[in-house]
Amino acid sequence: MNYATQMDAARKGIITNEMKAVAAYENRDVEDIRRWVAEGKVAIPANKNHKCIKPTGIGSMLKTKINVNLGVSKDVSDLDEELKKVQYAVDLGGDAIMDLSTHGDTKIFRRKLTSECPAMIGTVPIYDSVIYHQKDLGQLTAQDFLDVIRAHGEDGVDFVTLHCGLTKRTVEQLKRFGRTTNIVSRGGSLVFAWMSMTGNENPFFEYYDEILDICREYDMTISLGDGARPGCLADAGDILQIEELVRLGELTLRAWEKDVQVMVEGPGHVPLDQVKANMEIQQSLCHGAPFYVLGPIVTDIAAGYDHITAAIGGAVAAMSGAAFLCYVTPAEHLALPNADDVKEGIMASKIAAHAADIAKKIPGARDIDDRMGAARRKLDWDAMFENCMDPVHAKAVRDERAPEVEETCSMCGKFCAVRSMNKALAGEEVDIL
Ligand code: SF4
Repeated sequence: MNYATQMDAARKGIITNEMKAVAAYENRDVEDIRRWVAEGKVAIPANKNHKCIKPTGIGSMLKTKINVNLGVSKDVSDLDEELKKVQYAVDLGGDAIMDLSTHGDTKIFRRKLTSECPAMIGTVPIYDSVIYHQKDLGQLTAQDFLDVIRAHGEDGVDFVTLHCGLTKRTVEQLKRFGRTTNIVSRGGSLVFAWMSMTGNENPFFEYYDEILDICREYDMTISLGDGARPGCLADAGDILQIEELVRLGELTLRAWEKDVQVMVEGPGHVPLDQVKANMEIQQSLCHGAPFYVLGPIVTDIAAGYDHITAAIGGAVAAMSGAAFLCYVTPAEHLALPNADDVKEGIMASKIAAHAADIAKKIPGARDIDDRMGAARRKLDWDAMFENCMDPVHAKAVRDERAPEVEETCSMCGKFCAVRSMNKALAGEEVDIL
């Protein structure tokens, strides 16, 4: 291979098989894909060691992609159950799986993912560091963290979340200005705790150049983590969030100097009226790098229903420039999601992503809605199910509450507006009784 990463190839004018696959899926000109990858506006996370990957492009001008977080924890550690959720997530349309495992021999699950799963695989190496080295957080060295990043690269991980932007300055600012919910990013809190215990600078910031060399070697995309993302509406858009974002913009440019692909992670809890501005600030501070948002969750009080709060924020975010939505399940803030929660979370994210794609006029995005409109006009139930996001669920609901008049549904029965209009326009009698 005469290139190191997709970005390196794109800059050399080489069109890779991955770019061709992305262009075909997106129905876009492959030269446009190459140019966007060269400019950093589209990332194709595809580790050279993830042989079974379906290459996927992430960028605001492409279809909005969704990520599904899975992985075992000490409280819920059934590996087979987690693998079933992975299959389920892929079948439902998840574009990426982030393995957030924090228990047991994590490499077993990780390697299974990169050897069998076609979705992009992401990890957060700092979660794995304690387990990998069997040392508690304060005993870990900067080199230990780098070793875990390399191990994940070797295992075929396509993108790694690294909280490089949270520095000693963030520590000072947090102490000086305060926050309602301090730091709610799991990785961010671990980096903060490590810095507090050792007195050292954030190793992901201090040794960023070494990390870039590792990522370049495997073509592993860096997802620059938002360690200081707001954990409640009161903290949204504060100095910690914005100052970290400025640094993430600088780190984006440094990665691109070494042809390493980058995504930038975003908030978090954000009032709905601030979501658009957040996307615009990220686009300008981070030079158009794809934005990967965690929500945004637009109210703090809906625990049990946060897949809905995140879908509301996610739709507005994607419409305003975000490229990649991290799903949120109804179990968010409460527990590890079960299979039902995973499904609810994925469906909510898919709806948000599709709604945004229509709004930003992604080519062909609305075609399926137009087919659905035509099917509804004809009361063609088979075609309606065919064009549904979840045909099995839609058919089950209809079958369970079947109508008296087959062509209608039990919502209105013979008062069906569509039936009445079809009959009236055809000059037929509209029988109700
Ligand atoms: S019965 Fe009512 S809800 Fe059902 S298809 Fe007809 S108009 Fe729509």
